Amino acid sequence: MVDLDLLVDLHRDGERQGPGGDDETRQSIALSGLRGARDLRVADIGCGTGASTLVLAHELDASVVAVDLLPDFLRRLDRAAERERLGERIATLAASMDALPFVDRSFDAVWSEGAIYNMGFERGVRAWRRFLKPEGVLAVSDLTWLTSNRPAALEEHWMEEYPEVATASAKIAVLEESGYTPIGYFPLPERCWLDNYYRPLQDRFAGFLSRHGHSEAARRIVEAEDREIALYERFSRFVGYGYFVARRDED
Ligand code: SAH
Repeated sequence: MVDLDLLVDLHRDGERQGPGGDDETRQSIALSGLRGARDLRVADIGCGTGASTLVLAHELDASVVAVDLLPDFLRRLDRAAERERLGERIATLAASMDALPFVDRSFDAVWSEGAIYNMGFERGVRAWRRFLKPEGVLAVSDLTWLTSNRPAALEEHWMEEYPEVATASAKIAVLEESGYTPIGYFPLPERCWLDNYYRPLQDRFAGFLSRHGHSEAARRIVEAEDREIALYERFSRFVGYGYFVARRDED
């Protein structure tokens, strides 16, 4: 099995494939000012198994297009949407976030939780802007420095893994320079990482390893996840996910 198949197998049964929380999605909705608006069109990019998609479809009067590269994740979302009677509101689409088949100015909002790093924050916010109607809303969470100074070991790790990690003010400046007016920011609380993402992931390690006969490739994946979790536990005061909400400027 190649590593991607293994990663899918490890993450497919998770409610989330990254840090987040239903309350925090609701908080971003509150900041967006879209509650109460009628008949919205919303995209949720890099939706994984769709934790945020389900909240968006419940809370907004919207049809939501949920996009992910991996059809395995989307199948789980399709089943959850049926179960929660949201099948009419949620459409899933297997596509890459850097080649979206959308019409310009066709969405009232673009959401993306913990996924824009796959394109890079700046490339992503610039590429997705054209899909928004004038004054449409962008809501993204991305890895963010919480303080202006960090321990060197932490800085080295993330600069290697994701060089666009930056302070909230730097990310807000990128939004301003990319044609948006920032309207809100908040950091995800620690429980979005630990209770909602890392603990359930750790609970799946044993089953994952035994499904794959404790192969070296499977063990390597678990070890890498364990290292990332230990790093987060040690340094959660300095790094986290920032949630950024912004409105498209007029041209
Ligand atoms: N938003 C979800 C998933 C975050 S994990 C959550 O918060 O739980 C990042 C997601 O991005 C994964 O589901 C992964 O399959 C998806 N992804 C990675 N590269 C992608 C690409 N090029 N286009 C679309 N989705 C991608």
